[in-house]
Amino acid sequence: MRRGFKTEAKSLAMELREEIGLDAQGPFDPYAFASEYGIPVVQLSSLDGPARDHFLKADGSALSGALIPTGTGVIILENDAQPLARRRTTMCHELAHVVLEHEFGVSLSDGRKCGLGGVQEAEADWLSGEMLIPYEGALRLARANATDELAARDFDVSLAVARWRMNHSGARKVIERTRAKWAEGRMSYR
Ligand SMILES: [Zn+2]
Repeated sequence: MRRGFKTEAKSLAMELREEIGLDAQGPFDPYAFASEYGIPVVQLSSLDGPARDHFLKADGSALSGALIPTGTGVIILENDAQPLARRRTTMCHELAHVVLEHEFGVSLSDGRKCGLGGVQEAEADWLSGEMLIPYEGALRLARANATDELAARDFDVSLAVARWRMNHSGARKVIERTRAKWAEGRMSYR
């Protein structure tokens, strides 16, 4: 990831949330966002034929999402057989590629892999994380000593995504450091 990207992603995610009337607290709505941006979302279950049956599996090896260029724009194909929390994460990942104007032919997500290069994948993952649980939201939760389970419930994401954001967004570290400073300050008064 290029230097400064994480800082940019923080404010970009907040702008994206604002565009659909959301602040830093509460779940992101990738479907409302796609509709606002005029990006059609097609559910695999709505397609016909053997391709559908091949992709439409709930297990980890199945296709979770795809970006399909249409000449003038892009369509997101999503595997609606997967749990909603997983679908929301896939949707945000694909939307992040669009927002970041990544170059793609057809991008297929199966499990954690997309058809795109390493840097673009890392950027899409990071931005989608900020969309799902923004830094400010993670900070509020960390301040309240919230568990990963509570974070997952609050932002409507899987436990794995909640844990990743709470531990890697920097929120818990910032709160710990602040508390350590307060504790030190109190000590020095004695
Ligand atoms: Zn990707």
